Amino acid sequence: MTPVLSLRDVSKVYAGGVRALDGVSLSVWPGELLAIAGPSGSGKSTLLHLMGTLDRPSGGTLEVDGQDVSRLSDRGLSALRARRIGFVFQQFHLSDGLSAAENVMTGMLYAGVPRRRRRALATEALDRVGLGHRTGHRPHELSGGERQRVAIARALARDPAIVLADEPTGALDTATGHTILELLRTLNQAGATIAVITHDREIAASLPRRIELRDGRVRTDSRQLNGVLS
Ligand code: ADP
Repeated sequence: MTPVLSLRDVSKVYAGGVRALDGVSLSVWPGELLAIAGPSGSGKSTLLHLMGTLDRPSGGTLEVDGQDVSRLSDRGLSALRARRIGFVFQQFHLSDGLSAAENVMTGMLYAGVPRRRRRALATEALDRVGLGHRTGHRPHELSGGERQRVAIARALARDPAIVLADEPTGALDTATGHTILELLRTLNQAGATIAVITHDREIAASLPRRIELRDGRVRTDSRQLNGVLS
């Protein structure tokens, strides 16, 4: 089996010399649901950007779906990102002028999916997140939890190799946050590979695998603690 993501001795040094990641090695396998946790400044966002191919490592090797990103041009990297990676953000990042279905469809624009197929996939994805009855609603007509469901549908619609969710419950009240985590668990049980970036220890503790960062290094990885090779 090929890992969805494979990092070997990855570092990231920002201009000015800040070493945000230092020797990070880990693999994410198809079907996993994991938390990437750690306090503010520990390197979570930097790791998310690298995993999402929004930025490149300063050193080490990063493979997405078995492809070494250092061998890809910027264009090749964008194409890989469009086809294989879904993003969910704390603040949803939906377009106000578009319906739920149209918002989900925009996620497929750069993946080369024909329009009619985009609509069918969007309806299907909204069904999967329990919003099949809200496809024509605009974001301002939806609750916070429903907006995040639309964003999750957008991330999932193209059937990506991995969904990267950056503090997905951070803008929601506790009860709604729990329903969103429950949805991510259900989608994972149906086959989706999902990484949740969070500073919330309780959320991290509730997920099957936990990777904890500290000062740009992996402090603990529960998969390795359990003695399973990763
Ligand atoms: P977290 O998401 O866990 O809060 P970050 O990845 O945002 O951590 O930050 C890790 C370290 O890198 C911090 O010291 C932060 O100040 C620094 N950093 C993050 N982004 C940049 C940047 N664009 N330029 C310089 N330093 C940065």
